[in-house]
Amino acid sequence: MIKIVILGSAAGGGLPQWNCGCDNCRAARGSEPSLRASRASIAMSGDGEHWFLINASPDLRQQIIDTPVLHPRALRHSPIAGVILTNGEVDAVTGLLSLREGSPFALYAHQRVQEILRANSIFNALNPEKVKRIAIETGVAFRTDAA
Ligand SMILES: [Zn+2]
Repeated sequence: MIKIVILGSAAGGGLPQWNCGCDNCRAARGSEPSLRASRASIAMSGDGEHWFLINASPDLRQQIIDTPVLHPRALRHSPIAGVILTNGEVDAVTGLLSLREGSPFALYAHQRVQEILRANSIFNALNPEKVKRIAIETGVAFRTDAA
């Protein structure tokens, strides 16, 4: 059975959005904090031990803090075995920079998304010896290394 955790469900700016004063954003900042939502992403696992993120939102660091199944189980460890990118938009890739501390994981993305990452040197912060980049194809099933 696949386990899925919704890490965030909001659109690009999150809720509240930093520069928005609409009724919803004002309520999320004030009287209704339960409205707050981080940017869309999910984590999924087939075994409950190895987790795969679908996209890496700019809110990823806080999403990991808020999600116990994604917490390290040893001094230098992460249950995050991989990140699967569905696109190269800023809200899908910037969270990768929060994963730059040397833990190994696999990064699955279409060749065009891989090229976007290669073209932007800031993503070299992901050590290529630790973060294996694997090209996937649209409409073609693939297997991950872990469960
Ligand atoms: Zn708003």
